[in-house]
Amino acid sequence: MPYFYWGLLTLLNKNFIIMQYDVIIIGSGPGGYVSAIRCAQLGLKTAVIEKYKTFGGTCLNVGCIPSKALLDSSEHYHNAAHTFTTHGIGLKDLSVDMPQMIARKDDVVAQNTAGITYLFKKNKIDSFEGLGSFVDKNTIKITKTDGTSENITGKNIVIASGSKPTALPFLPIDKKRIITSTEALNIKEVPKTMIVIGGGVIGLELGSVYARLGTKVSVVEYLPSIIATMDAGLGKELQRVLKKSLGMEFFMGHKVTGATTKGKKVTVSALNAKGEEVNLEADYCIVAVGRTAYTAGLGLENIGIKTEERGNKIPVNAHLETAVPGVYAIGDVITGAMLAHKAEDEGVFVAETIAGQKPHINYNLIPGVVYTWPEVASVGYTEEQLKEKGVKYKAGSFPFKASGRAKASMDTDGFVKVLADEATDEILGVHMIGPRAADMIAEAVVAMEFRASAEDIARICHAHPTYTEAIKEAAMAATANRAIHI
Ligand SMILES: Cc1cc2nc3c(=O)[nH]c(=O)nc-3n(C[C@H](O)[C@H](O)[C@H](O)COP(=O)(O)OP(=O)(O)OC[C@H]3O[C@@H](n4cnc5c(N)ncnc54)[C@H](O)[C@@H]3O)c2cc1C
Repeated sequence: MPYFYWGLLTLLNKNFIIMQYDVIIIGSGPGGYVSAIRCAQLGLKTAVIEKYKTFGGTCLNVGCIPSKALLDSSEHYHNAAHTFTTHGIGLKDLSVDMPQMIARKDDVVAQNTAGITYLFKKNKIDSFEGLGSFVDKNTIKITKTDGTSENITGKNIVIASGSKPTALPFLPIDKKRIITSTEALNIKEVPKTMIVIGGGVIGLELGSVYARLGTKVSVVEYLPSIIATMDAGLGKELQRVLKKSLGMEFFMGHKVTGATTKGKKVTVSALNAKGEEVNLEADYCIVAVGRTAYTAGLGLENIGIKTEERGNKIPVNAHLETAVPGVYAIGDVITGAMLAHKAEDEGVFVAETIAGQKPHINYNLIPGVVYTWPEVASVGYTEEQLKEKGVKYKAGSFPFKASGRAKASMDTDGFVKVLADEATDEILGVHMIGPRAADMIAEAVVAMEFRASAEDIARICHAHPTYTEAIKEAAMAATANRAIHI
């Protein structure tokens, strides 16, 4: 036998197969693309497989970025229509050009997705367009849209396949009148009426977009409160403000039972708390009842990975490694908050773990944000959670109506609440609803990462006049009730 073949056989016998990549990542959402960049930075030869033409996943294409683009546009219109005159600004012939609003949103998306293409090239990351599925734990088959396929091999595989909108079995989505968030980002007219099923983040953000443009929006929610996973005071205040400022209607404690379409109208049926049938009619119905982990086509069965019955999540250990060594999963496809920044941090975590480092994520300090106006933001424990855990705590609140900056901008709805341990004064949770809460929550996250006390925040100088003074005042209120401006 020639020496070459003998050598090859020896290698194969030893199960030694040369892998093309150190890491293959399936999915290019915020989990996948961030992980790929971190892997490349750490010197790992990296490939990303994405089934769609553009990178960025849900977040960049049909999630965070386009929804924020429309939220910004609609907020400008709403202010022009409702607050400009108070500011002393007159406008004639104000109108909404919906196709232009959508075109601008598309342009923002295109700029962001092109940014990922640039970053992949810059970091020498190979990218493949097609559906990635496991042949075995190291081999991924990439099936392209023309039906052709190729296999690539990697020492480590990261599943970052994300999520899809959850569909209700009794309420088929026709993508025309009964739609998901994806279609709601592309309506090229201002509907007269709209029903949003689900009072969670996505439903309220998209409902706000259209309510600001003049649509009569009705929210139907099964639970007694909107944004139910956040601190209870936030949902209550948000519901009050959305009703007052945007005329949004809320059907709380209503269980949706079905929907039918007739021409350009959709009728949603629900049972109210008394069990009586309620029928609501509108031009569109957005079904926003959550998202489900997306694993279709991954071929998980080929490597023996079973998903959880509830939510279809891929089980992982503390290192975000699945039951199969060397196969990791991150982002929406695993347990935890379905948020882009959580997916990004997990992307970095897995890259560093593969590179032999010992990274850490504090899951209690992943902030949650709702980009309505006022914005809602939260980090750490809610009052409800602290009560349930039996932790003794102090609470300090400060309303924006007492803030000079908020008065100047006419954004006086909402408050900041700081929760601190009764004995040690360590901040345990910060919950806010108000102007720019999405940006302000970062102060609370940093403080809590460094295990600051409420008094630390109370003694730190905050620029005047800023909205952040409300955080300082709430911290002061939690610290022996010494807020200055209330
Ligand atoms: C309307 C809306 C607004 C949102 N707003 C926010 C927000 O403001 N802030 C926030 O933090 N979060 C927001 N989210 C949630 C956020 O978008 C997700 O948490 C985030 O995108 C999850 O990232 P991911 O990388 O896990 O998955 P995804 O972003 O879903 O990406 C997964 C990618 O994997 C690809 N893929 C799947 N299977 C395969 C396969 N077999 N082969 C190849 N490719 C595959 C998919 O095509 C997709 O591109 C929003 C979501 C929606 C719908």
